[in-house]
Amino acid sequence: MMPEFQVSCPQSLAELGAEVSRLEGEVLFLSGGTDLILELRSGQRRADWLIDISQVPELQYIKVESRLNGLLKIGSGVTFTQLSSNALVWENAQCLAQAGKQMGSTQIRNRATLGGNIASASPAGDSLPALVALEAEVTVEGPGGARTLAVAEMLADTENALKARELVTEIAVPFAEPRVERRSAFVKIGSRTQVSIARLSLAAVVELENGIIRKLRLAVGALGKAPLRLENLERDWNGQPVRPEMAAELAQRLTETVDKAIPGRQSQAYKRQAVQALAYDIFAELFPEQGLSQGGGGNDRR
Ligand SMILES: Cc1cc2nc3c(=O)[nH]c(=O)nc-3n(C[C@H](O)[C@H](O)[C@H](O)COP(=O)(O)OP(=O)(O)OC[C@H]3O[C@@H](n4cnc5c(N)ncnc54)[C@H](O)[C@@H]3O)c2cc1C
Repeated sequence: MMPEFQVSCPQSLAELGAEVSRLEGEVLFLSGGTDLILELRSGQRRADWLIDISQVPELQYIKVESRLNGLLKIGSGVTFTQLSSNALVWENAQCLAQAGKQMGSTQIRNRATLGGNIASASPAGDSLPALVALEAEVTVEGPGGARTLAVAEMLADTENALKARELVTEIAVPFAEPRVERRSAFVKIGSRTQVSIARLSLAAVVELENGIIRKLRLAVGALGKAPLRLENLERDWNGQPVRPEMAAELAQRLTETVDKAIPGRQSQAYKRQAVQALAYDIFAELFPEQGLSQGGGGNDRR
């Protein structure tokens, strides 16, 4: 049985702010409800008030801003369906669009929001490795004011984590420097029966100048509390031309990352195999001109 709580439905950001200040007791934001309703129903969480933020138009936009080199700005209320069907997202943050396309089922994607995925901060959250690899920033507003920080920072430590009554308002993805070609990809191995569990995911962003790697960001999801970056490999490949042998090196480094992250865990044997398939898949997505076909099953694999 669903426990009792009251619901407030603000129609603007100003009304929402007023409700956050006015309401007493345990107050939670309700966006798509795909995580929260289950948690309330199971008794995992409780609330005196739910603020339904799904009717707030100021949280629903995808736009490009020309500040600095350019920014892709996404309101936290954007659903995964909107994210994965938007041309600006495909053009400027392909790995995020691919993550959006592969998360959950059609029904879940129609309701689940990017803000909810970030706030839930599940190790298996599909948008998270993509946002970390893109070096995205998140803006949150709360009783203590507004703050903007890297998504990676927010996920990495409890000090920066989202606090009670803090609202995720916006996600910003910086563009690459001019004259640099940026490519990105997201691949995942999930489960059809438990669609909320990404068993393993991998996001990569690479910036190329005349075929030379100028910047690389790799983030593995569902291996630790927050996405794990492969900083050593990112450094080693910097300044190098792309070569087909790099696919095997990526597979090797990812296997070592699994061994280090979850030594002795029951899933270790499975994940060290699975990550190798993901390595070849993402390499083929990023560098199709290298002529390697996708390893174990393609981008839409579950
Ligand atoms: C069947 C099923 C399959 C799923 N499959 C996947 C999957 O493949 N990949 C994946 O990543 N996830 C999956 N999920 C989990 C879930 O759909 C996502 O985490 C989703 O993005 C949550 O967003 P929401 O809008 O539904 O959040 P809600 O459920 O409304 O809220 C989740 C939490 O975030 C808080 N919150 C929501 N919005 C904000 C905001 N703007 N600011 C601050 N706090 C906020 C809420 O208070 C709550 O604590 C699945 C869930 C189900 C039930």
